[in-house]
Amino acid sequence: MKASYFSVEQDHKVRCTLCPHECLLKVGQAGVCRVRRNVKGQLISENYGKLCSLHLDPIEKKPLYHFYPGKNIFSVGSVGCNLHCRFCQNWEISQTSVKDYPYLKAYSPEAILDIAATKPGNSGIAYTYNEPTVWFEFMMDIARLSAEKGMKNVMVTNGFIKPDPLKELLHVMHAFSVDLKAFTESFYKHLTSSSLKPVLESLKIIRQSGRHLEVTNLLIPGENDNEKDFREMMKWIQAELGPDTVLHISRFFPTYKLMHHATPETLLFKFYEIAREYLNFVYMGNVGTDKGRDTDCPECGNKVISRSGYRTSITGLDEHGGCKNCGQQIPVVLSGS
Ligand code: SF4
Repeated sequence: MKASYFSVEQDHKVRCTLCPHECLLKVGQAGVCRVRRNVKGQLISENYGKLCSLHLDPIEKKPLYHFYPGKNIFSVGSVGCNLHCRFCQNWEISQTSVKDYPYLKAYSPEAILDIAATKPGNSGIAYTYNEPTVWFEFMMDIARLSAEKGMKNVMVTNGFIKPDPLKELLHVMHAFSVDLKAFTESFYKHLTSSSLKPVLESLKIIRQSGRHLEVTNLLIPGENDNEKDFREMMKWIQAELGPDTVLHISRFFPTYKLMHHATPETLLFKFYEIAREYLNFVYMGNVGTDKGRDTDCPECGNKVISRSGYRTSITGLDEHGGCKNCGQQIPVVLSGS
């Protein structure tokens, strides 16, 4: 499939303008993401229509806690990524190519919708598991059809995408779960082979669009656990995205090329408390504790949504998303709203 977002340069080279890497590719060469290649002077999306991961997940797993809480979402993924995170939990599919990964199967956008329609309690389609930016064209084709049928589209992304394709996505996506991995260029450069600034730009564009946005930060001991940097991140989110921005702080476990120890729970608790100084809705992931799990009304403290594992109960909200105790409007998108 011919790709979107590229220009033809001298000597049949092409420049991909989908993500900030802006790879300049000779004939036969693939980009940093391994899945977009110059074929005879045209940029081709090699993973178009090829998926390896299809599951019905609780929407809380994305993670999204304030968007259709308690519902499921049909989640699909392919291969490739424009980042090379040393701590990637899905490196088997993200750090490979179509040629090197034998478990891909071919689907049409219509076939994905047909499968999604058979899933119980399903609210829509999530583009996830690997970075969906690097299968932009297939994601767009599914999402357009899905939106026409009244289903919700969710993109789980690293946010490393150029503004123009992101703005195109805003027409069909209803919610974004964005990974903000750290708040220093040095972390992004050395641990992800990318940069922070475009991710911040994407977050601002999504927030300004009014689409639903939640942010995730994986706390890695010794790598992004500097308190000063974390406070800077919280101040930036508060100022640029707003104090009602939902933040998930997630516990790191050794994986891929980062095999040192897991995040101590005490460190996670400490950063949770710091985040709560700036933001109204902070959650913790991958921890065995009740703390940072439920949604409380920031006005009166009433518990409005309780969670246990992936079981979710909306107990303290009226049908319009108001706190049943004090009437405070809680920024939650409920099914049917
Ligand atoms: S999407 Fe892939 S080919 Fe395009 S600029 Fe990014 S890494 Fe390079």
